[in-house]
Amino acid sequence: MSTVRTVTGDIDSKEMGFTMAHEHVFMDLTGHGNADNEWSLYRWKEQLEAAQIYAADGGGTLIDANPRTHDGRDVARMKVLSEQTGVKVVACTGFVKDTPGFTNCQDLVNKSEDEIYEDYVREITEGIDGTDIKAGWVKGASMYMYISPMQLKCMRAGARAARDTGVPMHTHTEIGTYGLEQVEIIKSVGLDTEQFCCAHLDRNPDYWYHKKILDQGCYIIYDGPGKAKYYPDSVRVDLLKRLCADGYGDKIMLCNDMGKKSHHTVYGYGPGWCWIKDKFIPRLLDEGFSEEQCHKFMYDNPQRFYSIRK
Ligand SMILES: [Zn+2]
Repeated sequence: MSTVRTVTGDIDSKEMGFTMAHEHVFMDLTGHGNADNEWSLYRWKEQLEAAQIYAADGGGTLIDANPRTHDGRDVARMKVLSEQTGVKVVACTGFVKDTPGFTNCQDLVNKSEDEIYEDYVREITEGIDGTDIKAGWVKGASMYMYISPMQLKCMRAGARAARDTGVPMHTHTEIGTYGLEQVEIIKSVGLDTEQFCCAHLDRNPDYWYHKKILDQGCYIIYDGPGKAKYYPDSVRVDLLKRLCADGYGDKIMLCNDMGKKSHHTVYGYGPGWCWIKDKFIPRLLDEGFSEEQCHKFMYDNPQRFYSIRK
C-alpha cells in the first residue's frame, strides 16, 4: 500500500479517487475579513458548497496549493470541510512569493535555509499552526524567468524536506518559465526527480521544454484547460497527444488551479471544480484519448505522485 498524507490523516492512495492536482480550498490573499475580494476564497458556506458539488459529481480529492505564505490557509477548516463532504484534501507546506499580496512570510525572511527546512519538516511530520494536521507535500516557486533569493532559499529547504520526509514537491512556475532551472536546484540538494513536479507549464505551451523536464523523471501539471483567454484548448490537446504518444502519459496531471471567485460556479461564475471531469475529459475522449489514459491523468498519476516515498 502507498500512503498519502491528508488533512484527516494518512490514507491508502487508492482512496484518493478522481483528483485535481493543484487547487485552492481556502485562500485569502487580501488578509482575513475581506471576503468580497476577488482573490478571497474564504466564505465557509460557498467553499463547503463547492466541495459538496465536487463530491456529488464524483470528485475524490483536492490538492490544496496554499502554503503558509498564502493568507487564509486554514487547515482546521479544511479538515472540517473534508469530514463533512467526504472530499479528501492534501495540504502543503512551503513558500511561493515575497511580493505584495503574499504577506504572510515575514518570519521566513530572517530565517536560514536550515531553520526553514526544520519548519517544513515540522509541518509535514508534526502538524501545522499548532494542530496535529499535517502537510502532505511541499510547494516551491520561481518568478518569470528568474528566482528571488527568498524563493531559492525556500526551494532548497523544501527540496531537502521532501527528500528527508518522502513527501512530494511541486512548484509554481510563473507563466510556465524557469522549470528546467528549478529541476537543477532540487537535484543539487539530492531530491529524486520522480518526487518533483512543475505546475502551470501549459502557460508556456512549448513541447520541447515540457519534454526536457519530463525526460529527467519529473511530473508536470497542466492547470489551464478551459482558460481560452490565453489560447484555445486545442493547443493543450495537441501537446497532450504528442506527449502521450511519446511515452509521457504516466507523468502528466490535470486540474484548473482556481484561485479566484470568478473561477467558481458557487459565486456565479465558472469553470468550477467539476469542469475537467464534465467537459475536458469528454473532449479528450472525443479527440481520441483512451479511457485508460484519462484515468492516468486524474487517478493513477496523482495517486503515485502524492504517495510518500519511504
Ligand atoms: Zn494555484
